[in-house]
Amino acid sequence: MKLYEYEAKELARKYGIPVPCGKIAYTPDEAESIAKELGKPVVVKSQVLVGGRGLAGGILFADNPSEARISAEKLLGSRIRGEKVESVLVEEKLCIEKEYYLSMTIDRSSRKPVLLASYMGGVEVEELVRKHPESLLKITIDPGIGVLAYMARYIVKHFSLPNNYVNEIYRITSSMWKMMVELDLELVEFNPLVLTCDKKLVAADAKIIVDDNSLFRHKEFAEKMFREYRGIELEARKQGFAYVELDGDIGIIGNGAGLTMATMDLVYFYGGKPANFLDVGGGASHERVKEAVKLLLKHPKTKALLLNIFGGITRCDEVAKGLLEALKETGIRKPIVVRMLGTNEEEGREMLTKEGIPVFSELDDAVKKVIELIR
Ligand code: GDP
Ligand code: MN
Repeated sequence: MKLYEYEAKELARKYGIPVPCGKIAYTPDEAESIAKELGKPVVVKSQVLVGGRGLAGGILFADNPSEARISAEKLLGSRIRGEKVESVLVEEKLCIEKEYYLSMTIDRSSRKPVLLASYMGGVEVEELVRKHPESLLKITIDPGIGVLAYMARYIVKHFSLPNNYVNEIYRITSSMWKMMVELDLELVEFNPLVLTCDKKLVAADAKIIVDDNSLFRHKEFAEKMFREYRGIELEARKQGFAYVELDGDIGIIGNGAGLTMATMDLVYFYGGKPANFLDVGGGASHERVKEAVKLLLKHPKTKALLLNIFGGITRCDEVAKGLLEALKETGIRKPIVVRMLGTNEEEGREMLTKEGIPVFSELDDAVKKVIELIR
């Protein structure tokens, strides 16, 4: 789960990492009075969860309070890369001498935390890796030990900063490690971390991703959990389904992530387009299947449904029951094709064919059928 920049900065400040002075505003009035309070030129920053706001026009500069008001008027209610701006962060404008990239995350291949540092700040990390891999310093952290002073030395050298910055970088990276552990983060990133004209290091931008699996012990984050989702995706996530919205018209339901993805691949292969990815999970009860089918029946984009069920612990008759219940409860009719195989396959097939729903045991046949029905 991603946090907004202002939330990430509040946490960074709490952990002793230098961030610019500023406050969050929900109206142009508030933006104006924060700028007045700061008493200097400000930067007005759209609070959205997508990155690259600078290039998308989501970051504006203002020399005085009335300009800050105008900037906030422009940004509030506008869309940055499709995401609506509901608030802006009004901060003192930093005089920047140099921009760096500094982050800590989990490296899946080494299965260890890593520190990433680049002297090319402000550039998205994906682009850094692609275009300037030599600029990116990667330091593996032993999770039993954490950050050590030599790491700060490496970074200072990599940044071509004088040695008297080692203490400050050590302080910042140690705080980042503390945040990773105490807050269960997947990522804490400062891009850019800047060297100001008066030679101070300040986190001009901050990004934090919290590990969703830890939300049970972070109530303060858990209540923000679903805010980045809208519409059917929100509903599906609230019900605990693994759901991803796509732009096609064939609704896909499978039991197991791998099976569902393989189903999507085959739909693409035969020239169809999935409307979504929906994994009902292992051993799904008829209630779970019913809720999943209902979501897609009510989904305006979905013209037809394809269920791919591999019966193991999941019982095919249980799935059939759920599917029929969904049709009955909603009264919505859309072409549905089912592929089922395994436990209680015969019972499931009989229940469905009786209601005129085609059932196949080969996935290829089911996929071809659903594409044919849509055309
Ligand atoms: P992002 O585009 O969403 O990553 O937003 P950032 O907060 O990183 O801002 C993008 C760019 O705007 C930075 O890389 C800086 O070049 C510039 N910027 C942001 N804040 C300031 C500031 O306080 N002063 C100056 N001079 N530039 C800033
Ligand atoms: Mn940034």
